[in-house]
Amino acid sequence: VPPATDLALAVEPLRQLLGADSVSTNAADLLPYLEDERGAFHGRAHVLVQPASTDAVARLLAYCSEHAIGIVPQGGNTGYCGAGTPFSDAHILLKLDRMNRVRELSKTNFTMTAETGVTLQRVKDEALAAGLDFPLSLGSQGSCQLGGVLSTNAGGLNALRYGVARDLVLGLEVVLPDGRVLNRAQGLRKDNTGYRWCDLFLGAEGTLGVITAASIKLMPLLQGRATALLAFATLSGASAGLLHFRQACDDSVVAFELLTQGSIDLATALGQGSRLPVSAESGLMVLVEVAADTSERATERLEAALQPAMEQGLVIDGALASSLSQRESLWRFREDVPEAEKRAGGSIKHDVSLPVQHLEAFVNETVDRLRAFEGARLSVFGHLGDGNLHFNVLAPAGADAQQWRHHNGSAVTETVLAAVAEFGGSFSAEHGIGVSKLDELERYRSDELGLMQALKAVFDPLGIMNPGKVLR
Ligand SMILES: Cc1cc2nc3c(=O)[nH]c(=O)nc-3n(C[C@H](O)[C@H](O)[C@H](O)COP(=O)(O)OP(=O)(O)OC[C@H]3O[C@@H](n4cnc5c(N)ncnc54)[C@H](O)[C@@H]3O)c2cc1C
Repeated sequence: VPPATDLALAVEPLRQLLGADSVSTNAADLLPYLEDERGAFHGRAHVLVQPASTDAVARLLAYCSEHAIGIVPQGGNTGYCGAGTPFSDAHILLKLDRMNRVRELSKTNFTMTAETGVTLQRVKDEALAAGLDFPLSLGSQGSCQLGGVLSTNAGGLNALRYGVARDLVLGLEVVLPDGRVLNRAQGLRKDNTGYRWCDLFLGAEGTLGVITAASIKLMPLLQGRATALLAFATLSGASAGLLHFRQACDDSVVAFELLTQGSIDLATALGQGSRLPVSAESGLMVLVEVAADTSERATERLEAALQPAMEQGLVIDGALASSLSQRESLWRFREDVPEAEKRAGGSIKHDVSLPVQHLEAFVNETVDRLRAFEGARLSVFGHLGDGNLHFNVLAPAGADAQQWRHHNGSAVTETVLAAVAEFGGSFSAEHGIGVSKLDELERYRSDELGLMQALKAVFDPLGIMNPGKVLR
């Protein structure tokens, strides 16, 4: 961005342009948005703008373009890499909370067109009320917004069956940095009319323009669920299990979530001793979930697939949840892991992805290399079905965790990410770049950087959109 404009001078013109109630400089209004949900990033901003229509966003961006003012869009503020945090008093913080209308829901077209300030939970609830499903599910769905979900290309728990956010989008309405509005949110399943520019905004973390509405795919509602916890002898066995269960259950596996011993121990400690109903020397567990129209049918499918898997020794032990509360307690174990790591003093986090066939070799090699960090504890878990591991490293038991991370953090991360690159993986599977992975992008994707910068210059030649995020 060109030299910081004195934003105070812009407040009155913005109020006239957008309405007085859309612009605030009140510190109390801004405060909740300056720190992210986890408290990892602490930002600053003086001006908050909350437009109520696409037209108002267009007027705002045109003004900012004319005066070279940086804009930081923020959704529900639940992102993990500081992408939605404003870090300069010279930038405007843009919230779309007031743009939360569902414009259209078509049961015959299986689509919803909604403004992007709507929460993911509301999108799911509206779909459900119409007897349909928007299958993207995240732990943060109560607060994250459609705009943030699309701009981070979020993955979540059902990506194995339904894909990531990008796979669920038919078209977008966006406001370009100069104020032009492009609307391709008509709900077209087929539309081969040249370059699909909409895709570039998915995962762009607000650096190309503002997504004001989206047309998204809805699915038939499959409310029945069957859930089992399975123990495998090896990671390659678990990968073979993925193939087996997907095939034997007619591709109705919606989750295949890995838990390893380190993560299980932490979650057990957090759950005050409540234990998993299955144990295995290997310490490798998978939470598998199958969807069908009824729970009975889902259970039938999962049981039918489980039996031969156990007979053949593919699954060495397993427990099928026979009630909702059992299902919930299995999921609680999986969902408790991040909190359990936090309570244990925090971890050095890596959100990586690899082709599933390389997971075992990658994990073995990385565990081996990490022996150099004596006593370091591992918490490896995640979306095995998507090849997406949260490969987290904790300080040795009894050590001062913060100090240990301070001394070893970069070396541990370098060790893990070098192995990821060697095995053809990605250093950021779900969470994006934001400000926390700029170095990694430059290091591991240096061949793509020029192209990314060129694309940014096409959409945002003045660099006003989310300055300093994704690209320096
Ligand atoms: C408990 C918990 C569980 C989570 N689980 C998962 C998970 O399983 N999978 C996963 O992928 N993530 C997960 N996340 C991370 C996070 O919730 C997702 O990345 C989510 O998609 C972020 O949405 P948000 O609305 O909070 O966006 P924010 O964090 O507010 O912003 C994220 C980015 O989107 C941009 N942005 C927001 N709205 C717009 C817009 N309208 N136009 C342009 N840019 C915009 C921002 O500038 C920023 O760059 C989890 C987070 C928490 C706290």
